[in-house]
Amino acid sequence: MSEECSEYIKKITVLERQIKLLGESRKQEERLRTQLNQTMDALKEKKQQLRELNEHLEERVKERTHELNESMHQLTLLASTDHLTKVTNRMKFSILLEQKIKEHKRTQLPISLVFFDLDYFKKVNDTYGHIVGDEVLIAFTQAVTEHIRGEDIFSRWGGEEFIALFNNCDGLGALQRSERLRKIIEQTFHPIAKQITCSIGVTEIRDTDTNDTVILRVDQALYQAKEEGRNRVVLL
Ligand code: GH3
Ligand code: MG
Ligand code: MG
Repeated sequence: MSEECSEYIKKITVLERQIKLLGESRKQEERLRTQLNQTMDALKEKKQQLRELNEHLEERVKERTHELNESMHQLTLLASTDHLTKVTNRMKFSILLEQKIKEHKRTQLPISLVFFDLDYFKKVNDTYGHIVGDEVLIAFTQAVTEHIRGEDIFSRWGGEEFIALFNNCDGLGALQRSERLRKIIEQTFHPIAKQITCSIGVTEIRDTDTNDTVILRVDQALYQAKEEGRNRVVLL
């Protein structure tokens, strides 16, 4: 009997130990579960932070791209504009002229070039100074731009020389329009320098022309206008 008893006690002790062990492993499991939940929460938070960071980064990239495009646009504009008169400069005009010559060869629509040179402009500078000279150049530009068509191109070639391209306009038409412009300039009075006049060369673009040949011809027409006494228009 006592042997049987001690056998039971042994079994009970073993069972008690197992129950205890089971309890401990439950606790361990709970601890692990809590740890796992905490890690999962932390991971979720990190993921959210990362998402926000990415969105912020995308926004910054978009902003910077916009700023860069804007600067690029400003630079392109600056590189193609004459800083004093704000019309396109010679470099830009040459690019446009090349395109227009190609266009003319394709469409056969007439295009003319008009070359302006202010008369005795050096005298304006020598007599009244460079600032007045600059004002005259600006007044001249405004007078011309106000009286040409939207489809025309007007540029500062350099110094006191300006060039225009008249779209859909043959040589005779350009001669008449230039004559009107010459009269307008003649009637444009600067408060100090008073009357301004200019000589004008005109030519129509031909099928065989390149930038160089058409510029040479319009320059010759201008030279002839100077030779014949200035403040006049010559068509070549
Ligand atoms: P012509 O009738 O033969 O064209 O005589 P001109 O005096 O107009 O020609 P010239 O080539 O002898 O002189 C041009 C002058 O233009 C000389 C130069 O100082 C002046 N000039 C060129 N660019 C500018 C500028 O941006 N501002 C001012 N104020 N003067 C300029
Ligand atoms: Mg000149
Ligand atoms: Mg001149």
